[in-house]
Order: sequence, then C-alpha cells, then structure tokens
Amino acid sequence: MDKFLKTIHELTDIVGPSGRESKVADYLKKNWNEYGEVKEDRLGNLSITIGNKGPHIAFSAHMDEVGFVIKYIDEKGFISLNKLGGIPERVLSGQKILILGKKGLIQGVFTTWPHHLTPESEKYKVKPIGECWVDVGVFSKKEAESIGLRVGDFGVYSRSWHVEGKTIFSNSLDNRAGIACMSQLLENVTKKNNFKLSLIASVQEEFCIRALTPTVRELNPDVHVIIDISPATDNPEMQGYSDIKIGHGPILHLHSFHGRGTLGGVLPPSWLVNYIEDCAQKQKIHIQRSSVVGVITDGAFTQHLNYGIPTVEVGFPVRYTHCPIEVCSLVDLKNLVNLINKISKDFYNFYSKQSF
Ligand SMILES: [Zn+2]
Repeated sequence: MDKFLKTIHELTDIVGPSGRESKVADYLKKNWNEYGEVKEDRLGNLSITIGNKGPHIAFSAHMDEVGFVIKYIDEKGFISLNKLGGIPERVLSGQKILILGKKGLIQGVFTTWPHHLTPESEKYKVKPIGECWVDVGVFSKKEAESIGLRVGDFGVYSRSWHVEGKTIFSNSLDNRAGIACMSQLLENVTKKNNFKLSLIASVQEEFCIRALTPTVRELNPDVHVIIDISPATDNPEMQGYSDIKIGHGPILHLHSFHGRGTLGGVLPPSWLVNYIEDCAQKQKIHIQRSSVVGVITDGAFTQHLNYGIPTVEVGFPVRYTHCPIEVCSLVDLKNLVNLINKISKDFYNFYSKQSF
C-alpha cells in the first residue's frame, strides 16, 4: 500500500474521541520526534516548531473525532448515551459502536426494530439520542459494570476501512486525513529555513471548537492555516447545493460560518487568499473555493488571540461528514499536501514582501 495511504489508515484506526486523544497523540509523538522537540500543552495539544527565526507560519489539524459518552446504564444492561460533537442520529439505528471501557474496548450495537415487526408508523422515523440504546450483549447493569462499563465512558463509531481506486471509505477521515496531510510537511522542511514553521495537532475540536487556544496563544504565529474537511455535495441528496466534489481538488474556504447559535466563522484576509491561490496556480493544482454555512473550526476563536492572528482554512472534500463512514479522494489529499508544502516553502519570500 502507498505509504501515505497506510498512514491515513493507521490514523483512522486509532480510537480518539474528543477528550480522549492520547493514543493519536502517542502515534504522532513517535513520528514527529525525529524532526524536533514535540511539545504538549496542559490540555494535550501537540506542537512542533522547526526553525527559530523569521516570520512564523503555523498549520493545525484536530486529532479528535466525534463520539459518545455513556449517560446511563439500565437494569437490563442497555446503555444510553450523550453525543460528543455533531453526531447525526439518523445513521445510528443498527450501527456498531466501540466503547472505551475500564477494561478495554467493548463492542456494541445500537438497538433497532426487528424489520419483520416494524409498524408502518415507525419505518421512517429518526429517534433522538435520548431514545437510542446500545446493546453490549449483557443482561444486567451489574454485568455491564463487570465488563468495565461506567457512566462517563467514551465511545466512537466502529472502525471501518476500504479503498476503491483512489476513493477512501473510512471512519474519522475528519480529521485524521488532515493530520496525515499536515504531518507530511515535516518531510520537506529543514532547520535552515529562514522562517518558523509550526505544526499543531489539537484536541477537543469536535467538542468545543476552541481547545487549541492555549498553544496558538503561546506560539503566536503570523499566519495560521487550519487543515480540515469540507463537506462535499456531489452525492444525490445534495445536488444543486454547491459545486464541491471529491476528486476535484483541495478546498479554500473564503467564508465559513457556524450558523447554529455560535456567531463564529473565519473570513480570511484577501492577501492570504491571494497567496494561497497563487501557490495553487504555481503547482498547477485546481482548488475549490468554498463558502459554507454550518461549518466552524478552532480558527473562529484563535484568530482573535493576541494582536489578531490572520487565519485561513484549507482542506479536502468529504462526503457524509460525521457519519460512520466518510468518503474522500486520495488525489485531493495528495494535492493538498502539495499545496501546503508550497505555502510553507514560499512563505518567507511572500511574507517579507508584505507591508502590513
Ligand atoms: Zn473536523
């Protein structure tokens, strides 16, 4: 298997919901260590900085994935959950789950109606999380506790992986594929750079979208590039929504806005947009410009730190975001690596000519 593809597979295979990212962090520490000192703040955000002079560009990607937390175990041993991040309930019925119990990973399945007995009135209904239950194969609360399950234990979607041609089907491509792309930058920088390059692998993005704050405040980069997914809309359900397609190139967000209560989003400065488009053009990479409501990243908050941190979001298109199996293109990921390499390589020349 392609080495880069293998890395993506390894990263998506690691269980790491928001607040429980340590295994992803361990994997990265092992791989980043050979390039320099890997720092970890007190929330668990990892960072590495190459170079010690000149303008400073930071790239970040989040390590965590959406998941669940056990809320209640009933007398028969069925488990009720809270959502950890944006989990769409419509995909849960009959779905497999992995729970990080005290004694290790426990598999379970979301209960559902037996097809033969489903009344017409229930067939097309989606149950809210409070009405969903997980069956872990035990028959009492006591037995559930005896296999190591407790209120407050975390869960994730079951692991899943296959590749068809250049199309990847996997859990947690959001944002392990982003982490894999960002890590590739380390292979192309040297300590002799006349600029500072930092990589940040952040925690709890899916939970609170701002846990990255302490490390960004500390590093105080001149430019912050956030790498994350962007919802592709090339499946039949989304026809006519936008032009974002998998296999058509990395994404440049011109406008992202949460739109669900939080007045948060990123409007990248035009000089930074122009720079990124310029880098793409030089590398002959087609990039997809995006304006999206419903998406938010840590950048919405970290851009306000210190004296202001110019921030831009780039990424890769993904179908079925936050679902058990997400779909993206290896071609887009490789082009994204090529693009961010160019962004970092030309950064000194670009930034030193700017008059702010
Ligand atoms: Zn994400």
